[in-house]
Amino acid sequence: MFWDTLGPPRSPLPSATPFPSLIVRATGFAAQGAFAEAQAEFLDPDPEVVARLEALLRSREAGVVAHYYMDAELQGVLWACDWPHINISDSLVMADRGVDMARAGAKEIVVLGVDFMSENVRAILDASGFQQVGCWRVAEQPIGCSLAEAAESRAYAAWLEQAAATPNSLHVVYINTSLRTKAHAHHVVPTITCTSSNVVATVLQTFAQEPQAHVWFGPDTYMGQNLARLFATLLELGDDAIAALHPAHTSETIRALLPRFHYFEQGNCVVHHMFGAAVTDQVERDYYDSPTANVDVTAHLEVPGEMFALALRAQREGRGVVGSTKNILDHITAKLDAALAEPAVDPPRRLRFVLGTEAGMVTAIVRALRDRLAAAERATVEIEIIFPVAAQAVTTTGDTVLPIIPGVSGGEGCSTAGGCATCPYMKMNSLDALCDLLERLPAAGSSPSVDRAAVHRELAGYEPRKYGERIAGKTVAALGTEPILYMRGFQQTGSLPQQLLADLRAR
Ligand code: SF4
Repeated sequence: MFWDTLGPPRSPLPSATPFPSLIVRATGFAAQGAFAEAQAEFLDPDPEVVARLEALLRSREAGVVAHYYMDAELQGVLWACDWPHINISDSLVMADRGVDMARAGAKEIVVLGVDFMSENVRAILDASGFQQVGCWRVAEQPIGCSLAEAAESRAYAAWLEQAAATPNSLHVVYINTSLRTKAHAHHVVPTITCTSSNVVATVLQTFAQEPQAHVWFGPDTYMGQNLARLFATLLELGDDAIAALHPAHTSETIRALLPRFHYFEQGNCVVHHMFGAAVTDQVERDYYDSPTANVDVTAHLEVPGEMFALALRAQREGRGVVGSTKNILDHITAKLDAALAEPAVDPPRRLRFVLGTEAGMVTAIVRALRDRLAAAERATVEIEIIFPVAAQAVTTTGDTVLPIIPGVSGGEGCSTAGGCATCPYMKMNSLDALCDLLERLPAAGSSPSVDRAAVHRELAGYEPRKYGERIAGKTVAALGTEPILYMRGFQQTGSLPQQLLADLRAR
């Protein structure tokens, strides 16, 4: 463990350095602060380092599935390799890509992430008939996750028993949990997984399809509190804003669901907690309330937490907005139009906006602003988009103009908080650790005297945790995968699967 006690008091960021930002001009973009350094590391990896990693991967016929919260330098090196068996994604996709690599002939799969991710990859490889393919973590010691551990506690089991004793209960479990947790929980209470980007939709959809349901969210207490606060705050915004979030809901249905939304109260991830609180404190102190900073604060409706509350305050004071991506864009463009109508000044006037939204929504906003600025006759205004995240957090976009941006992607981790991208466990997945492990794996075509199985046995400490037990006749892997498949079903159809609802009603 990197820490003994979870949930420390609110503390300032390690250094209250300015947040990363992008300056949008008619002529293009400029990166500012730590983001510029991260961008350089990502876009210009050392060619010798890239060549060494690529040679190791080829010689071991090894694939790499990495979580997208690896640091920018490591991601940059991985992206620069020509070796086809490399994938960077969220934890749901990691296992599927590992199977694709095994099918294409990879003999080893190295997982860069925390332990519940490597367990998942191992289980899906086994379930797909690739038991002979090696699957590896890059450290012998646990690459833990404090949320995953919280869900394996007796307190969580007791909380689930309480849910099981309550009719119409659905357990919405955060993706950052082990397959064992998901399997045991699903055995006790009908369970669906969620990520930070679909948790609001999952909870609201449950109440839309099953108005009498009780929803039990865990194990992330911080996110649970934020969700409860978000739902209560929606009542202030009125029916139009609620409908924008979920068309089946009104003030009346939101008020009715509040007492039936429960969350686990002993499951803190210290990283989310520290950055969530400290980031918002910094936005408020150094930006919003600063007499010189002159910023507006915006937050997407789906961003739970203190950032949402601060943006709501800003909206009331005419210096911000909470709403959809379009509402945020409309707010910024209205301010831009007003500035463009004023007399030209030199240097150009800079408008500043704190953007509280998932990183995935940022590129559309930034590109729209650039187009609008480019179309204006006078380049007298520039816009600074400030990302309220820990400086180390960057994410890839798939966009050729803006390949990486500050922040974290939807999925695991807190959207405005730096989330798992700043986690010390995630940082155990270093480039050195990856290369060291690859060097110890048997090279393809090595002499027949090299006993591959013996080498694998020597590296047993690097293997993902395995589960031998069965629950109600099913393997832990099979039962633990069901809540994930329910989430996938919901993402594909927009409705909760009938089988899950039938289970909820039957128990
Ligand atoms: S930051 Fe993410 S990966 Fe790290 S302990 Fe917290 S939830 Fe787990």
